[in-house]
Amino acid sequence: MGRHILYVICLLGGLAPAQTPQMKYGVPVKAGPMDSVLLKDYEPESSVVVPQTQVEKARFPVIDVHTHDDMSEIKSPHDVVRWLKTLDDTGVAMAVVFIDGTGDTFARKAKWFLAYPDRFQVWCGLETRDFDKPGYSTRAVAALEQCYRDGARGVGEISDKGWGIQDEKRPPGQRLHIDDPRLDPVWQKCATLHLPVNIHLADHPSCFRPLGPHQERTPDFQVFNLYGKPVPSYEELLAKRGRVLARNPKTTFIFCHLSNQGNDLAALRTDMDRYPNLYLDIAARDYELGRTPRAAALFLARYSDRVMFGTDMGADAEMYRGWWRLLETADEYIRGRLWWRQYGLELPAPLLEKLYRKNAQRLLNWQRP
Ligand SMILES: [Zn+2]
Repeated sequence: MGRHILYVICLLGGLAPAQTPQMKYGVPVKAGPMDSVLLKDYEPESSVVVPQTQVEKARFPVIDVHTHDDMSEIKSPHDVVRWLKTLDDTGVAMAVVFIDGTGDTFARKAKWFLAYPDRFQVWCGLETRDFDKPGYSTRAVAALEQCYRDGARGVGEISDKGWGIQDEKRPPGQRLHIDDPRLDPVWQKCATLHLPVNIHLADHPSCFRPLGPHQERTPDFQVFNLYGKPVPSYEELLAKRGRVLARNPKTTFIFCHLSNQGNDLAALRTDMDRYPNLYLDIAARDYELGRTPRAAALFLARYSDRVMFGTDMGADAEMYRGWWRLLETADEYIRGRLWWRQYGLELPAPLLEKLYRKNAQRLLNWQRP
């Protein structure tokens, strides 16, 4: 009775009865200025003092197998010259440039790069117009052959994040997915012409998880979220990959970004063992390698003949140097693009050379246009 009266008095006086503070990590959690900091604004400054190695140039001349003309801001032949300077400064001998287009769109831009045949290889897009009309496969193969004559030495990056590879978003059942049988003649023509295919399938697994307090990646990445959208699940998309690989065993498929499985290298191992024509690039997955450096180094060693270096991160010199630091040094607690800190893999020289260039030298089509 007396306690109830005290409680009412406390409420009337605007005072809550004394509460036991919530314990978290063994410490009492109390209200304070940090409570009003938004997640998107949180940028902790680290007090860790460790060596920070600046690697100006890669240890071996590099072939970057994943770049885009638009991401590298190439809008004229003049920009190509500027980009070459960055590549020289950082030790990149060659870049594979994905030009998103076929026909004249491809041919016009390809010329800018083919003026430097020792420095660039150009890859073309895939014809997807009128894919739901009769004769699509024949038209797509013809477009591919034209691109080949115009200098294309690979196809990519073909993207199927769940919406299909056609340009416009369509309802389920009306999309062109990578395992569509209409594409098999294209993939088989790629094998005949010895053109590797680079495919971006699904997306980082966190994209398929809800946005909210348990979302793995920061708000900066919510634009890529697919949770609740009318797209196949992550697992269904991986199953599509399996069907493409199995039906087209002679085609070299490079699934980029560690096939979006860099978070689970054991699962990726199973798939690599199952499909001998499954190849990978590490583009834009610095954070996957860097947050599990030991497992990543073991994985890269195990599949040392099937993984290639690529960036997909623009054309900045410091971007390249960040990669050299990650792959070549033993630096710790490296600030990454995400909040996740990264740790240097310190890859041994023979493995590094395969990743940087030897696999590309062996797998890509080096026939001069
Ligand atoms: Zn890309």
